[in-house]
Amino acid sequence: MTEVKKLPQRKEVPVELTWDLELIFANSGEFDAAVTELEQQVITFLTYQGQVGQSAQTLLTALEAWLDLDRALEKIYVYASMKNDQDTKNAEYQALFTRVQKLVAEVSAKIAWFEPELLALSEETVATYLQAEPKLQQYQHLLEVLLAKKAHILSDKEEALLAGASDILGAPENIFGVLNNADFKFAQVSDEAGNKVQLSQGLYGKLLESVNREVRKEAFEKLYLVYHQFRHTLATTLATHVRMHNFEAKLRGYNSAQERALASNSIPVKVYTTLLEQVEQHLPLLHRYVELRKKVLGLTELHMYDLYTPLTGKANLAYTYEEAKQESLKALAVLGDDYLEHVKEAYASRWIDVVENEGKRSGAYSSGVYDTAPYILLNWQDNLDNLFTLVHEMGHSMHTYLTTHNQPYQYGDYPIFLAEIASTTNENLLTQYLLETQKDPQVQAYVLNHYLDGFKGTVFRQAQFAQFELWLHEQEASGQALTAEKLADYYGKLNQHYYGSAVVNDQQIAYEWARIPHFYYNFYVYQYATGFAAATTLSQNILSKDPAKLTAYLDYLQAGSSNYPLEVMKQAGVNMEESAYLQEAFKVFEKRLNQLEGLLLK
Ligand SMILES: [Zn+2]
Repeated sequence: MTEVKKLPQRKEVPVELTWDLELIFANSGEFDAAVTELEQQVITFLTYQGQVGQSAQTLLTALEAWLDLDRALEKIYVYASMKNDQDTKNAEYQALFTRVQKLVAEVSAKIAWFEPELLALSEETVATYLQAEPKLQQYQHLLEVLLAKKAHILSDKEEALLAGASDILGAPENIFGVLNNADFKFAQVSDEAGNKVQLSQGLYGKLLESVNREVRKEAFEKLYLVYHQFRHTLATTLATHVRMHNFEAKLRGYNSAQERALASNSIPVKVYTTLLEQVEQHLPLLHRYVELRKKVLGLTELHMYDLYTPLTGKANLAYTYEEAKQESLKALAVLGDDYLEHVKEAYASRWIDVVENEGKRSGAYSSGVYDTAPYILLNWQDNLDNLFTLVHEMGHSMHTYLTTHNQPYQYGDYPIFLAEIASTTNENLLTQYLLETQKDPQVQAYVLNHYLDGFKGTVFRQAQFAQFELWLHEQEASGQALTAEKLADYYGKLNQHYYGSAVVNDQQIAYEWARIPHFYYNFYVYQYATGFAAATTLSQNILSKDPAKLTAYLDYLQAGSSNYPLEVMKQAGVNMEESAYLQEAFKVFEKRLNQLEGLLLK
């Protein structure tokens, strides 16, 4: 029997393994002073109401005051949220975080007039002001992005009506959340040790990775019993959510909900279309990977519940945190000395909260804002997956560091469309480093499979979701009723098309749409796929050792939001409106699939 290890209390964790939040506010006095100052800033800012457009000078003053407020507020917020995350059971931190959440809501409400007032300015007026006041010119791109919304803004009365109804329009998402997280009760199932356990969303993923086939089969079947039972409610909820998107898009004069969602990040629809076309063309590669799985697992029938169990067993590789730091420096060395210096600074300056303690938030993330260090939260375990997590989060943190140190505040962050590219590129560099340095075939197979599974789950699976999401919106827009039967019929066929004939298209999988929270986002998932593919291509560029390509990549890490995301990527070496970067990524997938076949089918 394995002993249950007791987690340390927060105060028992060695200080060198904790993040140093005193770099943000040295003590509670400094924090309180920052809040008081912010409240003063809000009072001053309110005096600009009604005057933003009066002159070039008032526009400049108000815009800078607005940005300063945002800057002060995000620093206060990130400090309180990280304090809370390090020990969510600490009553003092809970109170601090609640206080700050309230502050954010109050300040946001008080300054909400600013954007509409700015958008009321005509483009000619803004152009004249830019000429008249040279100091305004550093905000030109920001103003351009803000004013691009102008054509889709409705009258004051209509906007007020829509804002007032936002709770109601958000109802489908809330209803799904309550149903899925609170009301659904799943049956008891057996775990690997043969114990009866209560099936839950969290446990489902773990059981599906089980090496015991009966365990994963039972979890799969019992989970879908519930979604099937409630399929009509779930279809109605999802259909209403899709209708809301289409309704708002039409109201605001967009051609489609897709166009509206992508425009919010200045992404042309062609990026989405190109992704779906290229994935479609490369489905035979996924079919080959699925066939390999069937052969290696020695199954006469491969079912949907056989897709997540590990192909190679656990890698026989353990790293302590100290060893992982050294490995990360070697794997990331191709990014150059300057990059590496900053990684070392992260390790030396206590930007990382390393180990688990009681009450600490689970998982891993990179956080930090313009005026703080780019902190990392980990829950360290001595294994290869955690080394991947470390370089992933380090990718985000270095992106943040280089952006905040090379851009003024107004361009000192980056959009979600660009975020996962920096982190996934680092994972790719680690993959390549491990393949070159680890000669044990079992470790090689584990690393290859780790990459291929990541590609399958991020490029193929998210593209499948993106295809379904687009279909939903098109069906609704053309007046079709989205019944449970219709959704299941389309999804089941789409799934079969994606995975091919090597897998049995179990009837349950036709209801997978019913349990995916991301379908309640708004054309979001495609970015996972485009980001992963772009990162694959960029890491190939970096590994080519062409200095110009490395420089182009580092320029992307420094660009923040100073330009449109597609332009930033173009300068980094990837044109996301064209198909070449996707073809390049599929080539890497194919090469590594060949290697894994070579190792496992010998
Ligand atoms: Zn990430």
